[in-house]
Amino acid sequence: MKIQQLFTDAGLRSTKARIAVLKVLASADNALSHPEILDKMSLQKEFDRVTIYRVLDWLTEHGLVHKISGDNRAWKFQFSQNSYTHVESNTQKKQLLNNSHQHAHLHCTSCGKVTCIHELTPQFSKQVLAQYHVESIDINIKGLCEACSHSH
Ligand SMILES: [Zn+2]
Ligand SMILES: [Zn+2]
Repeated sequence: MKIQQLFTDAGLRSTKARIAVLKVLASADNALSHPEILDKMSLQKEFDRVTIYRVLDWLTEHGLVHKISGDNRAWKFQFSQNSYTHVESNTQKKQLLNNSHQHAHLHCTSCGKVTCIHELTPQFSKQVLAQYHVESIDINIKGLCEACSHSH
């Protein structure tokens, strides 16, 4: 996967730090917490903690990654697959950006892996949307991931 291309497709400015952090998340098969990301980036001494935290916020804000609430209220970061690929207009981009946050996460009670379940998305009636301003959605499912449910 070409990380640089993701920024180009999204019309976003890439920096060395942004590419490095996104690369870590894109190559992980699971959502990563702050300490895990710092650990994976510890070999690249050119980026300090604050820079990495700032980059994570920026990537989240622009929909390239999304935040998942993990155990103990600690955030985990997950690479947003297909968030921008082959999207032409800005409107479509915005829609996809919103959609990328509106799916459920399965938290495996056996191995702790967090999986994005894109097939499950919330449905809001017009009435609800008129009444409330929805900022973000975080649907959590507890259960066994694919690997663990097969070994049971
Ligand atoms: Zn599992
Ligand atoms: Zn997700």
